[in-house]
Amino acid sequence: MLVDKFNRIHDYLRISITDKCNLRCNYCSPEDLPKGAFANSPRMNVDEIDQIASVFVKAGVNKIRITGGEPLVRRDAKEIILRLSKHPVELAITTNGVFVHEFIETFKEAGLRSVNVSLDSLKKDKYFSITKRDEYHRVIENINSLLANNFHVKVNVVVMKTFNDSEILDFIEWTKNTPIHVRFIEFMPFSGNEWSTEKVFSHQQILDCISAKYKFIKLVNEKNDTAKKFFIPDHQGTFAIISTMSEPFCSGCNRMRLTADGKMYNCLFAKQEVDLLGSLRQGKDIAPIIKQCVMEKYAMLGGNNENENWGKENTETRERSMIGLGG
Ligand code: SAM
Repeated sequence: MLVDKFNRIHDYLRISITDKCNLRCNYCSPEDLPKGAFANSPRMNVDEIDQIASVFVKAGVNKIRITGGEPLVRRDAKEIILRLSKHPVELAITTNGVFVHEFIETFKEAGLRSVNVSLDSLKKDKYFSITKRDEYHRVIENINSLLANNFHVKVNVVVMKTFNDSEILDFIEWTKNTPIHVRFIEFMPFSGNEWSTEKVFSHQQILDCISAKYKFIKLVNEKNDTAKKFFIPDHQGTFAIISTMSEPFCSGCNRMRLTADGKMYNCLFAKQEVDLLGSLRQGKDIAPIIKQCVMEKYAMLGGNNENENWGKENTETRERSMIGLGG
């Protein structure tokens, strides 16, 4: 079992299988992203992903989420999904939805039932202005096909003040007759993504906005849930809020991250990475390295909350942005 010094059991691994993406959302993959060592690092091949995953599974991991970059742009994505599905884990994926139509059969074959699709606007033009790509209708069609095929679909919406906060009620309206689960995510700071406190639309502001039109009921959270979930009577779907900035949820954290170049992060905001791929290629046993990395995890926010500037304008972020970490 992977347990840290605060007795948190770590049984959930998020694997980024690529740092490439077909979309260009600035908050996730800023144009002036620092390159440095990361750009030249070797990436994990399918066998290495599988081998590293099996070490985590032997150590107690029971859930794996495939992410990226955009996981479905990787040429051997189907093979990776099928290989990971052989492990005794709940398998899930986070995608921007653009290539989902090519993968529905693979998801079924893999027994993957839960798909998170990122979509920050229900307006075609605004979608284009965020992503710089004209894929809005394709994403909507793909969400509909996932639903038609009985997948559990969560829609991730990063809420940015004055940009898409005006669409919160439109997303809620969508849950009325559609069994989708909308998750509003507070905008988080990462290298070069022009984050500022001014752009954060907080958990409380989101709730205030929704309560102006709807009565909702809070659902009970599981210990490891990052999202606070709500239900509106008569709606087929639900909504949730991921309040990383205003109300972090570190006390129940069970997550670890593996980047496409085989580095382990014990927290989304961790400043240190551990090179599992390098060690694997040198023939080392990576199980104790993983154990140690979990043991060194900070109580909160990768130790950033101990920095007095965290959450303020000059919040310091590390080299990798979300595109390199997988969210
Ligand atoms: N390409 C896939 C996608 O679009 O879902 C997977 C990777 S993406 C990094 C994973 C999630 O991180 C997405 O839902 C994205 O909206 C979210 N994300 C990226 N940058 C973020 C930021 N600065 N603040 C909050 N969420 C962010």
